[in-house]
Amino acid sequence: MSQRVAVLPGDGIGPEVTHAALRVLQTVRPDLVCEVGTVGGAALARGESALPDHVRTLCDASAAILFGAVGLPEYDGKPLAERPEYALFLLRRDYELFANIRPVRVFSGLEDASSLKAELVRGLDLVVVRELTGGIYFGQPKEQRIIDGVEAAVDTMIYHAPEVERIARVAFDLARARRKRLTSVDKQNILETSRLWRRVVDRIAPEYPDVQLDHLLVDNAAMQLVRRPGDFDVIVTENMFGDILSDEAAILTGSVGTLPSASIRADGFGLYEPVSGSAPDIAGKGIANPTAAILSAAMLLRMSLHDDEHAAQIERAVDAAYAHGARTSELVHPGMPSLSTQAFTEAVLAAL
Ligand code: NAD
Repeated sequence: MSQRVAVLPGDGIGPEVTHAALRVLQTVRPDLVCEVGTVGGAALARGESALPDHVRTLCDASAAILFGAVGLPEYDGKPLAERPEYALFLLRRDYELFANIRPVRVFSGLEDASSLKAELVRGLDLVVVRELTGGIYFGQPKEQRIIDGVEAAVDTMIYHAPEVERIARVAFDLARARRKRLTSVDKQNILETSRLWRRVVDRIAPEYPDVQLDHLLVDNAAMQLVRRPGDFDVIVTENMFGDILSDEAAILTGSVGTLPSASIRADGFGLYEPVSGSAPDIAGKGIANPTAAILSAAMLLRMSLHDDEHAAQIERAVDAAYAHGARTSELVHPGMPSLSTQAFTEAVLAAL
């Protein structure tokens, strides 16, 4: 497999945190060919599309994409196809990145940043696996109509068994490599798609006798996530439920700047990016937390390049930096000393 990585920093804090991640990545894997492409608002500003053809060509020739963030306030209100975010939409759709994987961890010493009591989130370590290319966000028909003279609208939630099978396997595999517990979330008391979902997940379960599977209704899952978050290991769910639950899980940590993500397809190709956006409010100030981008690079090594050793090395270095008290500004009380993006990155590099 090609050991080329397409690096797409994008907008706002994207370039700042991606630069940090690239420094770390190239320190542990100097052999990787990392090629930078311009996407999002940065590409639109040059008169190109949000995802120019030459960037697609770069992605086609790469084993994975390291992505920053896209989005700039001046494009708010424009149609999606004219906004920076269109780049991400096209990458996810055209590369069929059906599995969105979001690890949620609370670093030692950061428990107080959570809006939950510290004892509830201490040592928190769970993963949300969200189906990303199906369900109600994509089903047809999807339109506004006049029905019997009244304004109306329809969205369609549809899943095919193979879509459920492939995301379930991603989740079972992840659970097998972790604490071997998988929670599948659905709404099978109401939705036909959820009945299919549960049936298919149950059908696959015997292939993973070492993984303990349970099912939760989505409303209950939303409650349990804030009541006993430490009990979860891997959560798998459909697109819309995953959209909501993954954000709920993310805020358990208190800082969106620490959360990496992967969007992958079956052959291992994937896009790795911080969960957060381009943060225009802090862009250019050199204070963004680069943890999410650095940990996204670690996920890229593990999931697309099958390099567990260097992925774990990066993860240990980030743990060590936090354990030694490294903090960016959003993690300290106003007025308290904190590290810039660059200084935090140096702390991680020093710990490597
Ligand atoms: P955001 O995630 O960019 O910012 C939310 C808050 O979190 C801000 O206060 C920001 O300063 C803070 N924050 C985010 N990342 C941080 C970091 N690494 N370190 C410290 N603080 C951090 O969300 P938003 O403000 O709603 O969106 C801004 C733009 O990003 C919009 O244009 C939106 O469309 C876009 N967006 C892009 C993506 C993506 O590229 N994947 C995701 C979400 C939003």
